[in-house]
Amino acid sequence: MPLTQEAVRAWLQRCAAVLEENRDYLTQLDAAIGDADHGVNMDRGFKAAMARLASLNAPDIGSVFKTVGMALVATVGGAGGPLYGTFFLQLGGATAGRTEIALADLLAALEAGLAGIARLGKAEPGDKTMLDALLPARDALRDAVAAGLPATEALARAAAAAEGGMRATIPLVARKGRASYLGERSAGHQDPGATSSFYLFKAAVDAWTGGGTKAD
Ligand code: ADP
Ligand code: MG
Repeated sequence: MPLTQEAVRAWLQRCAAVLEENRDYLTQLDAAIGDADHGVNMDRGFKAAMARLASLNAPDIGSVFKTVGMALVATVGGAGGPLYGTFFLQLGGATAGRTEIALADLLAALEAGLAGIARLGKAEPGDKTMLDALLPARDALRDAVAAGLPATEALARAAAAAEGGMRATIPLVARKGRASYLGERSAGHQDPGATSSFYLFKAAVDAWTGGGTKAD
């Protein structure tokens, strides 16, 4: 079952594709409670990351994640760039030197990534941010790993939890980021960052359970 660098690259490719497909939708969500750039930001950042990955020749998974993190930090402005950049840099730190990782290693990397986002953004659960999709996904993945579920099932559960967390941001009042400037008027809209975070998990399910690079 271990995930190879090839599988990780397939996931990131799928992330880039899903973000491109949903660029306008993400931007529309950000238009309602932000500054209408989240889709454009994420698409630009992942395109830059894919370009850098194409010329990366390191054998380990950590270098792949670090390359993505650095590309996001360098090319994406606003809150999303540094936050997602930190997330991937932390994934890279957790998988440095590894040519294969097990699902439990992916979970540990995810924990490091979430800690990075929380440290930088200082958001709490329920603040209507990307963490509201990422934390339930992490919890679901942790439960699935503890239960010894196969990777395909574990990831499907994590993606479902991220989707639930994303939808649960709709009634919330934003307490962090630009949306918080709207106060009560931010309620009734789905958070763009929680939506892009769900797409990262959806992309993992697509990439790792759709044949070719099956995760188990
Ligand atoms: P900006 O708001 O600077 O234009 P983006 O539009 O790219 O940046 O990203 C907005 C998203 O970033 C929000 O929808 C939210 O999910 C996330 N976000 C904003 N501030 C924080 C924070 N402090 N912690 C975690 N996520 C945050
Ligand atoms: Mg924005």
